[in-house]
Amino acid sequence: GRKFFVGGNFKMNGTIKTIKDIAHNLSTAKLDPNTEVVVAPPSLYLLLAREHFAPSIEVAAQNVFDKPSGAFTGEISPQQLKDCNINWVVLGHSERRTILREDDDFVACKTKAALDAGVSVILCCGESLEEREKGVTVDVVTRQLAAVNKSIGKDGWKNVVIAYEPIWAIGTGKVATTEQAQEVHAAIRKWLADSVSPEVAEETRIIYGGSVTEKNCAELAKQPDVDGFLVGGASLKPACKCYLILLI
Ligand code: 13P
Repeated sequence: GRKFFVGGNFKMNGTIKTIKDIAHNLSTAKLDPNTEVVVAPPSLYLLLAREHFAPSIEVAAQNVFDKPSGAFTGEISPQQLKDCNINWVVLGHSERRTILREDDDFVACKTKAALDAGVSVILCCGESLEEREKGVTVDVVTRQLAAVNKSIGKDGWKNVVIAYEPIWAIGTGKVATTEQAQEVHAAIRKWLADSVSPEVAEETRIIYGGSVTEKNCAELAKQPDVDGFLVGGASLKPACKCYLILLI
């Protein structure tokens, strides 16, 4: 079975104090042993987070470069993440695709580089409102995933969690309905079965992101193809119950 997975993406939020507060709350909370919890603070706070969160909670970077070292001012390598015991990275987030202009191929290169260094990847995909209204949601999402598949191959997927994040639901308070989420998650799983392998389709976690809160997460979690969440805004609440989903 697929272990339930909850990620907290802090984005460019937090301070030493608030990250310590979240770490304290989550590390002393009674987390469900059947849920994997990964938090992604801004890079400046990765080591602080690693020091303050309980060892059972993994820490993720929000980005990584695709080279091991060298003259790349401002970038961080997957090898440096590993050196700091940061074993996960969020890649392909729509904010980086749109605001920082990362394309499918760059996301694919970075995914490959991370996996080669032993860093697991939360790979984000998702359509804009315009794309949804045009009816091309599944085309967009599978195009984004196909670029990665070309670069990592079938064996790469075992260290990837796919996060489906419709752009129109991110930070808007407009969560996808359970039917909308389930429909795209099922389409992604079918694409994995047809284009990668039935085993990868069965084993890969597909999590949902976009206005997930304590109020809506329990219903979303009931969908057969929703294997967890990537929580943005709500993940900054020190006692966010989304992390404890299977217990609520
Ligand atoms: P919100 O939960 O704030 O909508 O953000 C979702 C997200 O982008 C997580 O990566």
